[in-house]
Amino acid sequence: MKNKVLERSCVLFSIFLLAFPAICADVTITTNFEGGMLGPVEKLSETHFLCHVPGQADHDVRNRQVSWYSFCVNNARGRELTFTLTDLRGEYNYKPGGVCINGEAPPVISTDGKIWRHLASMSFDKVTDRASFTITPESDHVWIAHIEPYTASRLNQLLDEIRSHPDLRDDVIGKSVEGRDLHLLTITDPVRKETEKPVVWLMCRQHGWESGTSFVGEGAIRFLLSDEGRTYRKRVIFKIFPMVDPDGCAGGGVRFNRNGYDVNRNWDSADPANVESRRLMPEICATKKAMIDFGRMDFFLTLHNQERDEWLSGSEKHGQLAERFFTRLVKDTTFNPSAKGPVPSRHRPAQGRFSVYEFLDMQLGKPAFLMEQGIANSSKLGHLPTSADRLNFGRQLAHAMCEVVLEHSR
Ligand SMILES: [Zn+2]
Repeated sequence: MKNKVLERSCVLFSIFLLAFPAICADVTITTNFEGGMLGPVEKLSETHFLCHVPGQADHDVRNRQVSWYSFCVNNARGRELTFTLTDLRGEYNYKPGGVCINGEAPPVISTDGKIWRHLASMSFDKVTDRASFTITPESDHVWIAHIEPYTASRLNQLLDEIRSHPDLRDDVIGKSVEGRDLHLLTITDPVRKETEKPVVWLMCRQHGWESGTSFVGEGAIRFLLSDEGRTYRKRVIFKIFPMVDPDGCAGGGVRFNRNGYDVNRNWDSADPANVESRRLMPEICATKKAMIDFGRMDFFLTLHNQERDEWLSGSEKHGQLAERFFTRLVKDTTFNPSAKGPVPSRHRPAQGRFSVYEFLDMQLGKPAFLMEQGIANSSKLGHLPTSADRLNFGRQLAHAMCEVVLEHSR
């Protein structure tokens, strides 16, 4: 009898533990998953955490940019938890930088690491440069990130899904510093003669934190391989770099490769024929070589994300093409520029500071452009941009690029 009572109390205690694990266990914060990133966490109270955001600096320990955090909170169910993010001020192009993580872009949150939603708000204290938000999760685990993550694994899943498409070729053009594959996708109908078609290049994810560009890239790829995209596959060759910095995407990077080189600078100095260059900047060397080897380029666009504003940059040499593209984007897509037209290239950059489109434009004379898209509220969308918006924009973008290039090459 005594044993039975003991047994019963044990069962009841186990049920209690299963039902209320959060009550029994301390809240913990982990980052041991793809893209996870956070610095030291100070526990200000049982429910208030001061989170240091490390950002990423370059090989000279300069230009520290603080644009990414991604972490998981465990034993969170039913507790009102406050997180304060600190160390947010960085440096940009060797000058004191602004604060990229501020009240304009509240975090995204997920209970399964797959489906994400924005928090309604995040407060920002301009005196201390600290951002704070409070949540009361309904699940034990909750994932929190600056914007919705798009991991290197997600790209691999997409490639597995589409690889057998007859109009797609997936070439591995090199390896990243950590040995990840660098992909170049060619999408075109191989039955039609290649020499008769204009060539459109699209580059995504030069910078690890800018996951929006991967969703746009996926949207464009899916559209181009769809029945709807067939007409364009017959008339255009697409060359797409879906993820130029897979190490940054896997390891929670911001804008530098694993050796500290900005993947959208160094384009004039990186030399694919030089062993040391290939060792330090394999991502730039491989993509640069692929473009030079192929030779033809009727249009090039690199995609980026930043805090608020959106713009299209391009050279005045190709002003007419830029104007046409800009006009079409404004009319037919959710692109929401702050300027009334394309922004001309800045003056010639210093040695080693050329971005990809500046290198292609100023050194090779190619029609090359850069697009920035903001992560803050978009007046055109009427809300904070989501991954669904980015995927949809990818379809619109592919359509706009094709139409403009076909019009231009007539
Ligand atoms: Zn960027």
